[in-house]
Amino acid sequence: MEIKEYKLKIKEIIDETAKVKIFRCGIPNGSEINFFPGQFFMVSIEGDEENLKRAYSIASSPTEKNYLDIGLDKVGRFSTKLFDTKPGHVLIFKGPYGKFYFTDEMKNDLILIAGGVGITPLMSIIRYCKAKKLGNKIKFIYSVRTPADVIYKDELERIKKESHKFDYLVTVTRPEPGQNWSGKTGRIDESLLEEHIQDIKGSLYFLCGPNEFVKSIIAMLEKLGVAKEQIKTDVWG
Ligand SMILES: Cc1cc2nc3c(=O)[nH]c(=O)nc-3n(C[C@H](O)[C@H](O)[C@H](O)COP(=O)(O)OP(=O)(O)OC[C@H]3O[C@@H](n4cnc5c(N)ncnc54)[C@H](O)[C@@H]3O)c2cc1C
Repeated sequence: MEIKEYKLKIKEIIDETAKVKIFRCGIPNGSEINFFPGQFFMVSIEGDEENLKRAYSIASSPTEKNYLDIGLDKVGRFSTKLFDTKPGHVLIFKGPYGKFYFTDEMKNDLILIAGGVGITPLMSIIRYCKAKKLGNKIKFIYSVRTPADVIYKDELERIKKESHKFDYLVTVTRPEPGQNWSGKTGRIDESLLEEHIQDIKGSLYFLCGPNEFVKSIIAMLEKLGVAKEQIKTDVWG
């Protein structure tokens, strides 16, 4: 897909969790931004004297013609600047980039596995498949530190209720008393994968999160007999 630059005004900043904000950027009438669900853009802030740029996956679906969403937590130089912006500020998006994406030709069941904010490109895939009413069964396995860190909690629940093709499972790695969590706890391991994936060898896998997280899941999948070509990864650091 052709790489282009777009100047988009922030329409809305959504506090998705206590740590993660969604920056919803308006696509002007008459403009079109093409990308595959899962891809990322290089983002900078108009007027930033340091001209910092960082990669952000698009969390909205390419079928959404009015806006692009990116979601992030505040960790360092660029994300701190972005957290200081307000609706009306202009962000510069250059892209799309990356081979971590889904296309309509992929007919397998999809197993999406994320840690923390790594949900963003996977959310684009989930939203896209739903918008296009595609036949793929999707299982999303999501590892977070605490129940409060589940990004897109309400939407995941809604999609699960609306579509028998979508299911998800959250596992909390740092449960604490008083968190009101009755779901799964602990890190993703082989037995969890075996228990929750119907067609282990025939599914297509999309993994996104920190390096160690992704590496450990690849090792588990390979042990379970999944071919390398069935596994797509997006590693952020
Ligand atoms: C393909 C791709 C897609 C990505 N998509 C997303 C996305 O959708 N959402 C998202 O949130 N990120 C995403 N990232 C990561 C993103 O590009 C940035 O690296 C991230 O937001 C941190 O940038 P920063 O300038 O704020 O941190 P930097 O200043 O560049 O710091 C980098 C790292 O140093 C550490 N660090 C810096 N300052 C501190 C501090 N004060 N205290 C503790 N640690 C510190 C942190 O570990 C931090 O991650 C993606 C990366 C890639 C490669």
